[in-house]
Amino acid sequence: MTNRTETAVKKRVAIIGAGPSGLAQLRAFQSAAAKGAEIPEIVCFEKQANWGGLWNYTWRTGLDEHGEPVHGSMYRYLWSNGPKEGLEFADYSFEEHFGKQIASYPPRAVLFDYIQGRVEKAGVRDWIRFCTPVRFVKYDEASGKFTVTAHDLKKDSMYDEVFDNVIVCSGHFSTPNVPEYPGFAQFGGRVLHAHDFRDAMEFNGKDILILGSSYSAEDIGSQCWKYGAKSITVAYRNAPMGFNWPDNWKEVPALVRVDETTAYFSDGTSKKVDAIILCTGYKHHFPYLPDDLRLKTANRLAAADLYKGVAWVHNPKLFYVGMQDQWFTFNMFDAQAWWVRDAIMGRIEIPKDKAVLLADVARRVAEEDAGADAHDAIHYQGDYVKELIAETDYPSFDVDGACEAFFEWKEHKKKGIMTFRDNAYRSVITGTMAPVHHTPWKDALEDSMEAYLKN
Ligand SMILES: Cc1cc2nc3c(=O)[nH]c(=O)nc-3n(C[C@H](O)[C@H](O)[C@H](O)COP(=O)(O)OP(=O)(O)OC[C@H]3O[C@@H](n4cnc5c(N)ncnc54)[C@H](O)[C@@H]3O)c2cc1C
Repeated sequence: MTNRTETAVKKRVAIIGAGPSGLAQLRAFQSAAAKGAEIPEIVCFEKQANWGGLWNYTWRTGLDEHGEPVHGSMYRYLWSNGPKEGLEFADYSFEEHFGKQIASYPPRAVLFDYIQGRVEKAGVRDWIRFCTPVRFVKYDEASGKFTVTAHDLKKDSMYDEVFDNVIVCSGHFSTPNVPEYPGFAQFGGRVLHAHDFRDAMEFNGKDILILGSSYSAEDIGSQCWKYGAKSITVAYRNAPMGFNWPDNWKEVPALVRVDETTAYFSDGTSKKVDAIILCTGYKHHFPYLPDDLRLKTANRLAAADLYKGVAWVHNPKLFYVGMQDQWFTFNMFDAQAWWVRDAIMGRIEIPKDKAVLLADVARRVAEEDAGADAHDAIHYQGDYVKELIAETDYPSFDVDGACEAFFEWKEHKKKGIMTFRDNAYRSVITGTMAPVHHTPWKDALEDSMEAYLKN
């Protein structure tokens, strides 16, 4: 006979982080509940006082009001660095949120509002415990359950709770990778990592040196240029970004050393600079996870040790969402979150044989490695999104169309790195063409939501 108390006990699921990935996970469970399914009890732990993850802007750097490391890496005048048509939620279009179609490269505040709109509509805020970082997660073989140790920062009290599944959604663009170069300790100006960059106005009239050759270097340099830096010098290690830069922007080979005022490069040239910004990437960092649960991966499309890119091969009751390098973002997190939900709810079966899980990872790694360029990488990630959504009830959308938006975007960047945001693309969710923004990006110094949305 079935024990009535046992049947009444719901599975408990912990979600760590309420950024776009964690919110996708909450929305995934809520959408199943809305269709009448019995869902597990969900507890989302979020260390910040609000949701949105990196999109929840903070002026703070270093430590927050509770002495916790600041999560935010976004800066004041950040605009989407890819077209919104590549990230649109399939179940909540920009038109549904804003009541009209909007231009293709929204500033941070506009995207934050959009992310927030979907979860407000879903009514999942009560599932989140804010100001509550997870301090530790432990798995007990005997019970087959996880114990999560969380810290209620408002009460300054720690507690343990037991869960059947844990979903890690804590992001991987918050713990900076900070290299050391000879002379940094003597340099007379400011040396900072991109994680601590906030307001480009600080560098108005200054000669700045940027280290790195990826998005942060490109975009932080562009911000500084837009807001009046005197010159931008970007030192690369492997290859230059190679865009058609403005006259006061130069790419130079690797930095060798600095002295009090000047940076010296590997081609023998040098440049007097006022500040150095390290756009040298981020580390996957999970200080709250023990060795047997902790993901260790490079920032790549096929992350290590994750079956289907989400299930921890060494213990598939643990999941990670959003751990890949990202062409696709919000809609990929959705695809992952719906899949994880269905795995937890028993609608999708994860193979029991670990060799099968490992083979899946190895195949993904090999397929990514076989790609030649960014074009292949975009297709690769698009195919991954398609694969996951085909296995769930996430609304199907034209993923190839989203890839096309990315290809056009890359062409537009080649044509003009300071003008690409002046282009518009067609929504793959509603089929509507975005309007061209009313002001060219380089002239749009005021980037509030009101300014962006006015006709
Ligand atoms: C500078 C910058 C610019 C970007 N620009 C774009 C862009 O234009 N377009 C785009 O699509 N993507 C962009 N991204 C990519 C970005 O990764 C995603 O948009 C998105 O924010 C990732 O969501 P996430 O939820 O996985 O991680 P995050 O947004 O990092 O959210 C993780 C959440 O987990 C919480 N957390 C962390 N540790 C704990 C803990 N121990 N306990 C509890 N909670 C915890 C954090 O407080 C945070 O709320 C950008 C990233 C950066 C760094």
